[in-house]
Amino acid sequence: MKRTVLKFLAAALAVWLAACSGDAVKFNPGTYQGAAPGFGGDITVEVTVSEDRILELSVVSHSETQGIGTPAIEQVPEAIIKGQSLAVDNIAGATYSTKGIIDAATAALVQSGVKIEALQKKRSVPAAPAQKAVSAQTADVVVIGAGGAGLAAAITAQQNGASVIVLEKMSRAGGNTIISGAAYNAADPARQAAVPMNDANRAEIRRLTSMPAHDDFERELQQTVARQFAAHTGSGLFDSPELHMLQTYNGGDYVAKPELVRTFAENALAGLEWQKDNGMGWTGDIFTVLGALWPRSHRPVMPLGQGYIDTDLKYIEAHKDQITVLYDTKATDLIIQDGKVTGVKASGPSADYAITATKGVVIATGGFGANKELRQKYNTQWPNLDNAGTTNHPGATGDGLVLAEKAGASFVGMDWVQLLPMGDPKTGSLSGNIEQGVEDRFFVNKNGDRFVNEGARRDVMTLALFDQTDAFMWVICDKQSYPTPQTKNNFNESIEELIAAGRAFEGNTLEELAGKIGIPAENLVKAAEEFNAGVEAGIDGLGRTLWRIKIDTPPFYAGARIPTVHHTMGGIEINTSTQVLNTAGNVIPGLYAAGEVTGGIHGSNRLGGNALADIHVFGRIAGTSAAAGL
Ligand code: ADP
Repeated sequence: MKRTVLKFLAAALAVWLAACSGDAVKFNPGTYQGAAPGFGGDITVEVTVSEDRILELSVVSHSETQGIGTPAIEQVPEAIIKGQSLAVDNIAGATYSTKGIIDAATAALVQSGVKIEALQKKRSVPAAPAQKAVSAQTADVVVIGAGGAGLAAAITAQQNGASVIVLEKMSRAGGNTIISGAAYNAADPARQAAVPMNDANRAEIRRLTSMPAHDDFERELQQTVARQFAAHTGSGLFDSPELHMLQTYNGGDYVAKPELVRTFAENALAGLEWQKDNGMGWTGDIFTVLGALWPRSHRPVMPLGQGYIDTDLKYIEAHKDQITVLYDTKATDLIIQDGKVTGVKASGPSADYAITATKGVVIATGGFGANKELRQKYNTQWPNLDNAGTTNHPGATGDGLVLAEKAGASFVGMDWVQLLPMGDPKTGSLSGNIEQGVEDRFFVNKNGDRFVNEGARRDVMTLALFDQTDAFMWVICDKQSYPTPQTKNNFNESIEELIAAGRAFEGNTLEELAGKIGIPAENLVKAAEEFNAGVEAGIDGLGRTLWRIKIDTPPFYAGARIPTVHHTMGGIEINTSTQVLNTAGNVIPGLYAAGEVTGGIHGSNRLGGNALADIHVFGRIAGTSAAAGL
């Protein structure tokens, strides 16, 4: 078990002591252990305290799930020490692990004789240690952010001959990418040949290709898709990059930039194959992730987004002579000389940096879903999001927008914040979601009624959810989604674990399930009958067209969900080479951007499964462009 030990500088201690004189917190100096239940079992921590402060906190044993609980293991001790308080933020996706560590730390700290209530509220944060050395470094390319886009850019830049420094403000790589559902959309006729094409799919193509075109780009796509579809032979599912473009453009209300949509869809499959060549495992299954609108979602072998980041980090480890990742190092400013971006200033744990980028700087800092202030500033679509939870990691604060704005960058689509109807009611995270694919579940409200086409766009489903009592719904599926109690969801959680934790419910009949979740049994039975009739008819009164098999095989399962902030579609404006554009539409020399920090690719609504493709397509282009010093 990895042992996380965090030490503090003497200088910080002195500043802290000065800042906190008068604070009632007093410990009996020493080292104490405490244990408390997490998600996978007991978590044991060891804490060392001086008279006035928590000096070290380490998790000495745990059984939390790799990738889900482990971010909490890495971040919560650090947050407790930094804040000198047990009132630390929940780690998205790791609620039980977060709570387990806090409870274990509480149990340990109580033994030190401290007045524990004083630690259970937020306290004034110690000032940063005085004066750090400034380290001057040089690389061909500097990448800001070690999420999916940043790592793809870093690796591609190296593959194009560049030396690379990656700056990551958190203590781990992966950002939102590693905690995402991880589905990757790409038109992939070879793999999609195994998916049967049904009448509802055919009707959807006819609808898409015959609706009035919004503009020339859509008209051209409609004509191409109609031609391709007429020539399609065999019983397998039809797909093409142009159909992917058409659905992406139309599904985002034509707000996206056509040339970015084209670049995105044309290169999606190549991005997936690139990760495969780097060693990433794919199951080979094709499914429809929530809001994807078409079965073109690919599933990694590893749970969540671990497969991408694991593959990237292994590559980087094997090429560490050319790629350096500096963790806990936050980019604070771009260095700009005569209008050209020539480097980055950053702040690390023991040094500040002034890093010269001889060829280019790539901003890949992700979105701002975890920044309530920015969300409020830009959101025009949703009710007040002040109290909304988020699926995002705490570092998704939009730093890259601030950096880019100072360099004169233009932003596009900032109003569009994506919510999912799929948040955990307690934390807003995606974990605990029992759906295995759009086709195989339906939703009911607290009255047991279906209320929306469950294959619709994410914004459509979320808006409909806001109209239900308490904006609350149940996802319903059956044994066919979970053939055994050990079958896991996308978040590496088995259905039996979720039931044991009270996060999912099971019934041998729909009536029994309804009783357990407190909804009228006759309504749930009626909802299932409606759904099953839809499977036969290929369409239903709610307009649903994505079907596979009936939900009729016990046991039946239910999981609660609420709206949650997921993705920010708007961001830095780029061209198809990922060069950042200024407000006059001109390229800012030396500056590139990729991933969720950019805008113009998804329009007003991002299709489910398009983000992983986006960050790889544009991350790779950014690496190539920056290495070339375009
Ligand atoms: P994307 O999907 O676009 O790659 P992610 O959320 O996966 O976005 O990754 C973005 C990464 O950028 C995160 O790991 C985040 O911690 C990091 N990051 C954000 N702001 C900064 C910053 N100012 N300096 C360094 N890293 C940052």
